[in-house]
Amino acid sequence: MNRDILKECSRVVIKIGTNSLMKTPTKIDYQKIDRLAFVCASLQQQGREVIMVTSGAVGVGAGTMNLDEYPEAAAEKQALASVGQSVLMNLYSRFFQHYNQHVGQILMTRDIMNYSNAYSNCRISIDSLLKSNIIPIINENDAVSVDEPGHCSKFGENDTLAAVVTELVDADLLIILSDVDGLYDANPHSDPNAALISFVGDIDEEIQAMAGGSGSVFSTGGMETKIKAAQSMMDLGKSMVITSAENPGIMFDILDGNEAGTLFRKAEAEILLRGDEGIL
Ligand code: GLU
Repeated sequence: MNRDILKECSRVVIKIGTNSLMKTPTKIDYQKIDRLAFVCASLQQQGREVIMVTSGAVGVGAGTMNLDEYPEAAAEKQALASVGQSVLMNLYSRFFQHYNQHVGQILMTRDIMNYSNAYSNCRISIDSLLKSNIIPIINENDAVSVDEPGHCSKFGENDTLAAVVTELVDADLLIILSDVDGLYDANPHSDPNAALISFVGDIDEEIQAMAGGSGSVFSTGGMETKIKAAQSMMDLGKSMVITSAENPGIMFDILDGNEAGTLFRKAEAEILLRGDEGIL
């Protein structure tokens, strides 16, 4: 599949998961954060607009509080997230500053999707950060979000949050940085013959099975939620790439249209057709 379309992506959402930011469940990988800051700041300098969706509030909180494992109780996790989020944001601010790049924090809850003013306010606020050349760094508001009858404010995981953000800001591309190189046709950790799938144009049962749906289970790094995010991106005519967080510089290759990770994108003809339907 020719990837030239990715060269044109001017607004990009980059999602990084907790595992990719931590050396161990409680130790922060500073080198990773530094490289991420370098790549995002450089992309911004190239004239692209970058929005980051980050996890890590709970993990960084646990590291800060010297805990060997995460607590079970929701309230304790929320307290940890409150500590971790501010440490995490402080780290991002300092590393991005090194590359002369300002960042702004946005903490989202799911309920903004149900209220049109809240939804459009969030979009306006992200737009104005971008207009001022500031990279928005978004996470769920873990310290307060909760699900209760009649009020669902929790995303629970950030693959979904990243897809919601990509739609909200009408970005062209969502890059999900993960602990695997992309989607494999078998579990790469246990099967030496597992092959990376470079392009997915349609999420059929076979792809769903590879992601750990019904049938076989190859779900490394929560592939199931990533495939759901991919489906919603494809339905919107957007592109999504799953790639490894190991070397964030890989994002330069991806945006140069080179082969890396797994690209999810509907065939152009189908997107045009959908566009026509929308106009009618
Ligand atoms: N929002 C959570 C955190 O920052 C992470 C959710 C996820 O792992 O996807 O800890």
